[in-house]
Order: sequence, then C-alpha cells, then structure tokens
Amino acid sequence: VNYMVEPIKQMTHMSTQLQEGLTGFARFMEIMNTKPAIEDDSHAVTLSSIEGKIEFKQVGFQYEKHSDPVISNLSLTVQPGEYVALVGPSGAGKTTLCSLIPRFYEVTSGELLIDEIDVRHFEQKGLRKHIGIVQQDVYLFDGTVHENIRYGNPEANDAQIIEAARQANAHDFILSLPNGYDTEIGQRGVRLSGGQKQRLSIARIFLKDPAILILDEATSSLDNESESIVKASLDQLAKGRTTIVIAHRLSSIRNAERIIVLNQKGISEQGTHRSLLAKNGEYSRLYSREFSSKSG
Ligand code: ADP
Ligand code: MG
Repeated sequence: VNYMVEPIKQMTHMSTQLQEGLTGFARFMEIMNTKPAIEDDSHAVTLSSIEGKIEFKQVGFQYEKHSDPVISNLSLTVQPGEYVALVGPSGAGKTTLCSLIPRFYEVTSGELLIDEIDVRHFEQKGLRKHIGIVQQDVYLFDGTVHENIRYGNPEANDAQIIEAARQANAHDFILSLPNGYDTEIGQRGVRLSGGQKQRLSIARIFLKDPAILILDEATSSLDNESESIVKASLDQLAKGRTTIVIAHRLSSIRNAERIIVLNQKGISEQGTHRSLLAKNGEYSRLYSREFSSKSG
C-alpha cells in the first residue's frame, strides 16, 4: 500500500493537461497543490503549530461501502512526543490506521482527534504540514537533489537544506555525487541506492519539521548496512515528535515506550517489550517466531 497513491492518481490525470516545459519540481508542486480528493469544510481550521496528540475514539473504517471493515471500534491515544510501535501480522490494518491521520481516508465511524480537534475540521493541506511520513517506497521526482529536499519546505534557504541533509546523514554522499546538491536524480539523472533515497526523504522531513511522524516499514527493503545508517537518522528525526513506527523486524522496536499489537480484531495487547514478553501472549509468539526464523 502506498501513501502516494492519491497524488499519483491525480498526477496521471493531470499530466495530459500540463504544459510541456515545466521542470519536474514545478510540475510536482503544481500537482500537490491541486484540489484534494476530500473537500475541506467551510470553516476548516489551520494551526501554525500543534502539540501532536493523536486520539482514535472508537474508530471504524472500511475502504468500500459493502466491504468488510478493516478497523472496528478502535480506541488509542498517543501523547505528544510519545514514541509508539505498531506491530502485528500483515493485513492487520497498520498502514490503514496510520493513513487516517493525514486524512488520506476518512474514518467511517467514530472520531480521530489531533490536539483535541477532529481531523475533519482541519484544513487538509494545513493538517499534512504537521505530519511527516517515511515509508518503504520513497517518492523522488525528476530534478536535483536540492529541489527534492526543498520539497519538504519550499521556503527553506540553502543553509537550511544543507543542515537538513546533515541531520539525515545525507550530506556526505550528496557531496560525492557529480554535481553535489545540483545533481539531477530520477529517470534522466543518477541512480541512487535505496538507502540514499531514504536519507533524502528523511532530509525532507527534517526540513518540514512536523510534530507528528509516521514510519511505515521505512527500512524493511534495505540491506543491513544501509539499514543501520537510516535507522540512526530516523532515531534523530523522532526526537521531540509524536512518532508511530510500524516495524518489519520486532527486534528494531524493543526500546519503544509502548508497543501496540494490532490484529484483524483490533488492538490485542499493549505495553513495553518486557511487559509483553512476560505476558506470554501474541507479542511473545510473534517475537519468538522472528527469533527462530533468524537462527533457523
Ligand atoms: P498492514 O499494514 O497491517 O499490513 P493494511 O492496512 O495494508 O495492513 O491492510 C489492511 C487490510 O485492508 C487488508 O485486508 C488489505 O487488503 C486492505 N486494504 C489495504 N489497502 C486497501 C485499499 N487501498 N483498498 C482496499 N483494501 C485495502
Ligand atoms: Mg502495511
């Protein structure tokens, strides 16, 4: 599942209408500013900054009117600055749950509040400014490294872009590219490794500086070496932000303040790594399965 599906759909729709000659970046910005699929209500609010509290109140969600609900009667509060991990079998609805936060989809029942305000009352573009998402597939557009990072905050200056790249452990590899920050990437440019792309997407988010961070299996397609570099920048990025991390490998989220186990029926358990292991329940089973598949 890809968080960019919606904008990409709009993009394929738009591209025929767009004039030739726009640069990749300008084109991308134009597309991102087109009318969102979900309409804002007439008195939608925009907040210049938020604390980052997230509250699901008896939330239900289904993709189609007549399909089975993916999420039913789910309640969960994540405090400002808290670092929580969401784990559970594939298909449990982890990605779906997180995609409700930036309102890629509307809840079907119940409420989702951010800083005590129903997300339906936020102006959509304003809401998304407060949320950073890192997922397995990175979306970079045809253009320079500089332009791709600046997408995180179009008003940022060069010094801020370089600082964001440094924080994301990307500055050194960028300098080693043929034209540094002006190197063209994408279809006609240089090819970057998975870990390098991921670090550019992290630089973008440092620049954006959102209160809420969603990491959805961000490192699951990387080799061990890139994973540890990317993991280090993600740990930095998470500092001071409300963070929900969906982990591919349970061993990587042992230190989370709270681990939430989600299955098809809803939240089955939550607690620290130690308390969940002591419980000998679903988490403990998932964890020992991962351990035995590694050694076996
Ligand atoms: P997880 O991230 O835990 O693996 P997902 O949120 O991706 O789970 O999927 C939960 C369920 O919703 C699955 O049954 C999946 O097939 C379904 N699903 C996910 N995305 C869509 C979509 N865009 N349209 C319809 N069904 C979807
Ligand atoms: Mg998923």
